[in-house]
Amino acid sequence: MSTIFGQIIEGSLPSKKVFENERILAIEDIHPEAPVHILILPKKPIASLQDLKGEDLALVGEIVQVAQKLATELGIEKGYRLLTNNGSGAGQTVFHLHFHLLGGRPLGKLG
Ligand code: AMP
Repeated sequence: MSTIFGQIIEGSLPSKKVFENERILAIEDIHPEAPVHILILPKKPIASLQDLKGEDLALVGEIVQVAQKLATELGIEKGYRLLTNNGSGAGQTVFHLHFHLLGGRPLGKLG
């Protein structure tokens, strides 16, 4: 059974795409916590950061590059956060690796 993000990647669930290539997809978060709240994910179904294998490390580098590009395009390059919640103990609710790109308002300290 595919996750919500797996279904979005397959095209069976709608999303607002802001970037896509063969390996990476970026979509607007459905419940934004900041004026800019984008989710950047590999299309490969990796459950979480902790499940990432050495052979997939390049995907994380590419996700960082996509985050830099989107941050510049959206005018938040002077203040944004790129984060992933690893595991339910950290608040992960969708078990397909994704990074939150947050910005557009002052971001407080991480708790
Ligand atoms: P996390 O809690 O770190 O696993 O993040 C999951 C994120 O996915 C949350 O910020 C949700 O608002 C977001 N989300 C859930 N369903 C969708 C959806 N269909 N389209 C876009 N974002 C979603």
